[in-house]
Amino acid sequence: MSSHSIKKSVREIFQTLPKDVILVAASKTRSVEEVNEAIHRGVTIIGHNYVQEAEQMYPFVKDSVKWHLIGHLQRNKAKKASQIFDMIETIDSYKIALAVNQYCEEMNKVMPVLIEVNSGRESNKTGILPENAESLIRKISLLKHVHIQGLMTMGPRFGNPEDSRPYFKKTKALFDHLQQADIPQADFKYLSMGMSNSYKIAIEEGANMVRIGTRLFGKR
Ligand SMILES: *Cc1c(COP(=O)(O)O)cnc(C)c1O
Repeated sequence: MSSHSIKKSVREIFQTLPKDVILVAASKTRSVEEVNEAIHRGVTIIGHNYVQEAEQMYPFVKDSVKWHLIGHLQRNKAKKASQIFDMIETIDSYKIALAVNQYCEEMNKVMPVLIEVNSGRESNKTGILPENAESLIRKISLLKHVHIQGLMTMGPRFGNPEDSRPYFKKTKALFDHLQQADIPQADFKYLSMGMSNSYKIAIEEGANMVRIGTRLFGKR
């Protein structure tokens, strides 16, 4: 997309977002120039699906922005991810949390993380099943170098975004339950759900973090 259209689409998105909703610019397949243009127009968080893609872009993007991992994390990428990301939105197993915890301990940092929930119960999707989330969270919350700050979900992909609503509702109900559960060392501040076609519905259902690619940068 040209820098002119990115300028326009960033402005349009910011105009439609309530003040308390955080925008994560999903940047997979985008160039350094496109990402920098979005940053120039006010984007402050870049979401990456792949550790390697983030690593390649890292030296060329302003270091005042935050980097979120929004794609699935493999154990062999946990060290690099621990170095470059400011938040990992896709923790869905104890094993991967433990790996991040270990590398962050070596680096003397604490990684903010979200727990990814497979709200659509899709067998081919990542994320923890809703009914298993609390016990996973209780276990991970004991790790000193990862800090749980909320939930993330994708939900099934639909042509009609209205069909996503029940999955967002379900994830919000879980989020509220976990908030009430008062788990020591875990905070439920962020609920990351909604993409280009569904973010408005996600916000209606309680999302305060949205991950948007196509609406900012154009078709992939
Ligand atoms: C690509 C992607 C998005 C953004 O999708 P768009 O439809 O382009 O807005 C959001 N979240 C994740 C995890 C993604 O991979």
